[in-house]
Amino acid sequence: MFAYASYVKSTIADMQDTAFRVEAASMQKKVALMILQKQKATMAIALSLANDKNLITVLEKKHMSADYYKDLISNFEKETLYKNVWINLVDNKGTSIYRSWSDLKGDNLLDIRDDLRHVFLTKKITYSISAGMFDLSIKSMVPIFKNDRFLGVLEVITHFNSIVKNLQSSNIGSVVIVAKEHNKQLKYPFTKLFINNYYVANIDAPKHFLEYLKTNGVEKYFNDSYKVENGYIVASYPIKSIELKDIAYFIMFKNTSALDNAHVDFFTFKWIAVFMLLGLSVLFIISNIVLIKNRKQKMYYRNILDTASNIVIINDGEKALDVNKTFFKYFYKYNDLQEFLKDYSCICDLFVKENGYLQSTMDSMYWIKYIIQNSDKMHKAKVKYLDKIYYFSISGALISQEKNHCAVVFSDITKEEEYQRELLELTIKDSLTGIYNRHYFDQKINDEISRVKRYKYPLSLIMFDIDYFKNVNDEHGHAVGDTVLIAYSQFISSLLRKTDIFCRTGGEEFIILLTYTTISEAQHIAEKLRHEVENYKKILPITISFGVTQYKEDESMQSVLKRVDDALYQAKESGRNKVVVLD
Ligand code: GH3
Ligand code: MG
Ligand code: MG
Repeated sequence: MFAYASYVKSTIADMQDTAFRVEAASMQKKVALMILQKQKATMAIALSLANDKNLITVLEKKHMSADYYKDLISNFEKETLYKNVWINLVDNKGTSIYRSWSDLKGDNLLDIRDDLRHVFLTKKITYSISAGMFDLSIKSMVPIFKNDRFLGVLEVITHFNSIVKNLQSSNIGSVVIVAKEHNKQLKYPFTKLFINNYYVANIDAPKHFLEYLKTNGVEKYFNDSYKVENGYIVASYPIKSIELKDIAYFIMFKNTSALDNAHVDFFTFKWIAVFMLLGLSVLFIISNIVLIKNRKQKMYYRNILDTASNIVIINDGEKALDVNKTFFKYFYKYNDLQEFLKDYSCICDLFVKENGYLQSTMDSMYWIKYIIQNSDKMHKAKVKYLDKIYYFSISGALISQEKNHCAVVFSDITKEEEYQRELLELTIKDSLTGIYNRHYFDQKINDEISRVKRYKYPLSLIMFDIDYFKNVNDEHGHAVGDTVLIAYSQFISSLLRKTDIFCRTGGEEFIILLTYTTISEAQHIAEKLRHEVENYKKILPITISFGVTQYKEDESMQSVLKRVDDALYQAKESGRNKVVVLD
């Protein structure tokens, strides 16, 4: 009896632990996703602002009028979720020449901003979270060029307040705390809030949680992923800088009252105890009470798991032993786990094979073992059930060492994933023509060159530029020029193969990356494009000059790009409307 009671008791402890762990993990996942979403959305704003041709003049003159973005920012405030968007313009020396939220300018930012130094070094679009003179914030930085000359960086800055508000609607209170080493540079702390000398970056941080941290100390929450204390689950999520240092902590509070209130009502069976006392030994009664209490508690935690919005699967490392009710909200054809297991050996049978998502075997390990061994990473699965696609973020934990039982939690992130996919499209597509942009080309050529080095297949490049395009604008206006660019990009797209990667790399300059294609096949394709474009004559007749080359084993990206550029130059020099091939 005692042995059984203690067994049940240990199972309850496991379940309680799982319930808290599930909650803490889902709080952390929530904030991670919200930050990512906000970063991507901030990047979408930055990329569209960077298209503004006036920026080139502004950066050359190093002067921007104080109300340049006034209307835009007030529209953001009125019409979008962005109540506090800041715009910063930095020249090619790292000096701020414009801040939308302050008159301060002329100061150099390279000394205090690692992330900005990174952009100056790589000259690439970058997003980060960093602390500056004013605040800790989310930053999207886009380098601005005139031809190939680097002029400076446009930076769009957003804050954590909307994330904090969003979390509040899930009953999660949060305080964003900045690591102390940034205090020195925070010359004009925006929120003016501090706890024990730690800067608080969310202006509407709830007062009682500020007090709570003041009383309990701040540091102890930094290292532990979560604690359960004083009626709260306190989960912390470290915010990483571009160099992956912890620069701040999102500390979240959720009341455990729904989870913790496990007082079992003895009243109803007190009389049983009294009755039994008459005839049975004290030992027997005590052990019975423990048993009933434990059963009740077990049911209580079972209830919590069943009402969770996440899918919870208890697994013995090989097969599912138990699932919560939410499981059947998704796999609704089944009433219990046994039925499901008749059709599928594992939920992983429904995983869609796609890069970046979990497969049933990862690094030659069963997926559950893999997520437990890599619990610091974020795991995602794409699940297809009856023609519907779901995305889940997944975490797992060993809940019983001796039985090797683990709890795997699936949180539905379908909405976030779909939204992110749309945003990703925005960052890799050119806004005028809808084909891939320069940023995507830079990524792709790097990827392809490393693949070619490994798998040794032919990779060719076609670079082309419309002939005398300036005349089109001069004679018919810029708007007509734009429609010509759109129409001919679409036409050329329709002539290419699915595997060809077609990018607009400049005003009227384009590159096609052709995988598994030799130089003579690429030449043939370029000739065909030249001929078809010449005869198309839609809107206006135009001609195009082409350069063609193939990547040579072990050469650098710069070298193949230079060769294809030289080929295009020769096509222009030798009369235009030509294809020149350089081997
Ligand atoms: P060629 O290439 O044959 O040497 O002559 P070009 O006149 O095409 O050469 P250049 O590079 O001097 O001019 C390119 C022109 O393309 C300049 C600019 O007016 C136009 N252009 C660049 N981007 C756009 C755009 O987005 N829309 C429109 N309408 N025109 C653009
Ligand atoms: Mg041209
Ligand atoms: Mg040109």
